[in-house]
Amino acid sequence: MPASVLRPLVRPGTDTDAVAGVVPRLVAEPASTDDVSRVMKDAAAQGHSVVVRGNGSKSTWGVPPSSLDLLVDLSRMNRVLEHEAGDLIVSAQAGTPLADLQEALAPAGQRLGVDDVVPRTTIGGLIATNVSGPRRVALGTVRDLVIGVTVVRADGVVAKAGGKVVKNVAGYDLSKLMVGSFGTLGVVTEATFRLHPVPEASTWLTVEAESPSAASDLIASVVHSQVVPAAVEVDAVPGAPTRLSVLLEGTERGVAQRSERVRDLLGTTTTYDVPLALPGHADGARTLLKLTTQISSAPEIAQAAVDLGFHVRGSVGVGVLYASTGEAARASAAVGTLRTLTGRSGGAAVVLDAPTDVRDVVDMWGPVQGLDLMRRVKHEFDPDNRLAPGRFVGGI
Ligand SMILES: Cc1cc2nc3c(=O)[nH]c(=O)nc-3n(C[C@H](O)[C@H](O)[C@H](O)COP(=O)(O)OP(=O)(O)OC[C@H]3O[C@@H](n4cnc5c(N)ncnc54)[C@H](O)[C@@H]3O)c2cc1C
Repeated sequence: MPASVLRPLVRPGTDTDAVAGVVPRLVAEPASTDDVSRVMKDAAAQGHSVVVRGNGSKSTWGVPPSSLDLLVDLSRMNRVLEHEAGDLIVSAQAGTPLADLQEALAPAGQRLGVDDVVPRTTIGGLIATNVSGPRRVALGTVRDLVIGVTVVRADGVVAKAGGKVVKNVAGYDLSKLMVGSFGTLGVVTEATFRLHPVPEASTWLTVEAESPSAASDLIASVVHSQVVPAAVEVDAVPGAPTRLSVLLEGTERGVAQRSERVRDLLGTTTTYDVPLALPGHADGARTLLKLTTQISSAPEIAQAAVDLGFHVRGSVGVGVLYASTGEAARASAAVGTLRTLTGRSGGAAVVLDAPTDVRDVVDMWGPVQGLDLMRRVKHEFDPDNRLAPGRFVGGI
């Protein structure tokens, strides 16, 4: 590929382009899947290592890339392509901010059923990191909602899966495979999602308990009840009461009735809008952990994290918690303990984001099952290990 073809798309990297502290030599700013394909073919020919960026809202997450020649910035690919309201389906370019997508869907009374927990998140970044918020209790995660993707592979070949199938990658459910892949398998350029109607009524009911442990019975009573919550969220800070919040969504009448039922279970509740953002900023200054566990162990894990000095927020209704602290020494000392505890209930403690002094002493991913399979998949998609090298678990 002659350099002149790519020149309008490529500029030198600057400090503001850094990915977990690593400044790329070059930055490409493609505007279409075809542009990305051309850029990736050129990168393959030159043997360039590549990291993808949406809006960079989570570029401090994960392990720093072991090498970074080219950053592929998708922020120009920010268009909603097709909204089929009758079929509850939307397709958008990967650089589209989730907030913009929701705004485009709102006039039709529809939404993508994921929460915007990291401001400026793009839908490509959402897929690559598989973050989810409180509503995953009822609506699932990105994995459940994505029905098709267009991916540019490391060699520049465009592959499409699901949705309006043009060409598939034999043997894999490409859409699901991309979820949580941290940009190691390909560049997602477009995605298709199934949508949900925006409910007529929506209300959070909150009760305070002394601690996550003390809220354990209350949590169990809601989780095992027939009230069908859209979210069951705990918010706990060391030295303060723990807030347990239940989100009810549906018709006006249904929500009113189910609110009564929740009050029967929890006692007197207050109503306020629970903040959806993850605790702590995704800016590399604080340590942010994702703790997964069995639902029954979630209060105990939340309690342990609070006792270790973390601010804990998360979906005790599914066993996914986020924990953050600004104290590096505390974070470094706690990760092992939290790994042991979550591991006992079949879960994991992954360090999503952390300042350098924490990164220097902890293994960001920790032990993970299925590493051999992940390595085989990685090898098949990116045999030269040029996509986000070293960012993922096990040095993938
Ligand atoms: C209705 C419902 C009922 C459930 N019932 C049960 C139950 O009875 N028992 C039970 O055990 N669970 C149950 N679960 C699941 C459980 O509550 C959590 O959802 C689950 O543990 C979260 O794991 P996950 O990998 O799906 O998390 P996700 O948020 O979907 O994914 C985490 C992602 O992060 C990455 N990741 C996570 N951990 C690691 C790691 N260690 N190393 C590297 N990467 C990692 C991977 O990319 C992974 O895809 C239930 C869930 C739901 C929704």
